[in-house]
Amino acid sequence: MDFLKEDDAPEVPTPALSARIIPPEEHPITPDQIDRDALFILRKLADAGFAGYLVGGGVRDLYLGKTPKDFDISTDARPGQLRKLFPHSNTIGRRFRLVQVFFKAGKTIEISTLRSLSEYDLDGPEEVLAPNNTFGTLSEDARRRDLTINSLFYEIEKGTIIDYVGGTADLDRGIVRIGGEPGRRIGRDPVRMMRAIRHAARNNFTIEAETWKAICTNSDKLRLCPPSRLRDEFLKDLYDGAAHHWFRLAADSGIFANLFPFYRKTLLKSADTLNHPRELLARIFQTIDRANALAVQQNIHRQPDFFLFALILVPWVEARWQLYSEFRKSGALFQLAKQIRDEIDRTIGVDLNLRRSLRQETVNLLINLSLFIHNKGANGWPKWLKRKSYFRRTELFYHFYTEALTGEPIDDEALTTDSPPRPPEALQPTPAQLAPQEKKHPPPKCKPAFSAKTKGGIFGFKK
Ligand code: ATP
Ligand code: MG
Repeated sequence: MDFLKEDDAPEVPTPALSARIIPPEEHPITPDQIDRDALFILRKLADAGFAGYLVGGGVRDLYLGKTPKDFDISTDARPGQLRKLFPHSNTIGRRFRLVQVFFKAGKTIEISTLRSLSEYDLDGPEEVLAPNNTFGTLSEDARRRDLTINSLFYEIEKGTIIDYVGGTADLDRGIVRIGGEPGRRIGRDPVRMMRAIRHAARNNFTIEAETWKAICTNSDKLRLCPPSRLRDEFLKDLYDGAAHHWFRLAADSGIFANLFPFYRKTLLKSADTLNHPRELLARIFQTIDRANALAVQQNIHRQPDFFLFALILVPWVEARWQLYSEFRKSGALFQLAKQIRDEIDRTIGVDLNLRRSLRQETVNLLINLSLFIHNKGANGWPKWLKRKSYFRRTELFYHFYTEALTGEPIDDEALTTDSPPRPPEALQPTPAQLAPQEKKHPPPKCKPAFSAKTKGGIFGFKK
């Protein structure tokens, strides 16, 4: 990655720092909170004479009294030694090798050997460190990590937390801080800006002043990162449960405008009315959080990525083409669908490496929403619209849109229709495969507005 080279000098191994060792009676983590399989790995490492530590997000979340998503382990054992110790394992990673240990039901736990640099701190995609340089001390490993709150080690034998970077003090005070010199660490890996914002939003923490300044100054460096990495990081934030808070931070820092460049001007405008696109966007993220929380509560599918992408694009489509405030006949809608698709292809389609089907489904929803808005009568929607294959999904989209537009929560039920993606036509049952009662009452014939099979029209849009 080119941007890595602009930094003045490669990071050199730093002298060992002294750590704050926090005994078990002074912190909230106890071994019984740790995943059984992670404990098994830590004990096996100790029995074989290696050091083993719980690291990263696992320690952070346990310290905060939350349930960690995963438990990562660091050790002074080398990948080859780990493979021998854990026969059900695999080595992954090209530049830094990690060992994945396999457990029942497809569960894996990653073990990394302590190291002095993160893969993003190397000087280019091809650089591989000499073996004697690859591995590092505990203090070097702490300093190659992104945030101070993600740089703590928990050691199982004595039950102590080892803190080289002031991570526990930052957790106690609710502060997110990029370790070391923030500008330099961001230059090495701009995605660290997104990670800082994520953890601030998720935990309701404050971003430390120097880190915040470095993020605001360097937000445009995000565009130097691989598009797929940006997309995956953004999707994590979208489904994280704190998307609303995330959006405020991302908009204020310039991160959002670099992910969605067509919102750059919109976000700058100062007007603060209810219908200002920035406020509408904020309410869209609020609705996404509410719907995701309800789906988790009810143990049903959350809406797919194209659905949430389309929702985020609504204010842009309205500001640019007045799609929802102005009525258009179907011919004009076909043209507009093509323009929107072209614009998405040229911008976020490339910047976030969005797959073709996601781009198409997004445009379909945006266009169909205008049909729903302009055809709604006192008794709901007309029959012809109800017969469309896209009716249920667009109705749900309309509910999300309405809640975001008005700022008034609508019925929980209206936000939580479980609508997993329809199987491709080839996978749909033939009449012979249908159960007898289904044969008697076959599903209503749907007329898709967009169909790959339909000849003529743009995207096969039926006139
Ligand atoms: P989550 O709860 O989302 O899993 P996490 O902090 O565990 O949060 P991971 O992506 O699982 O996030 O990363 C594990 C650890 O690896 C982090 O806690 C951090 O110490 C380190 N890390 C991850 N990404 C980077 C990065 N870009 N630069 C430096 N360290 C990183
Ligand atoms: Mg993690």
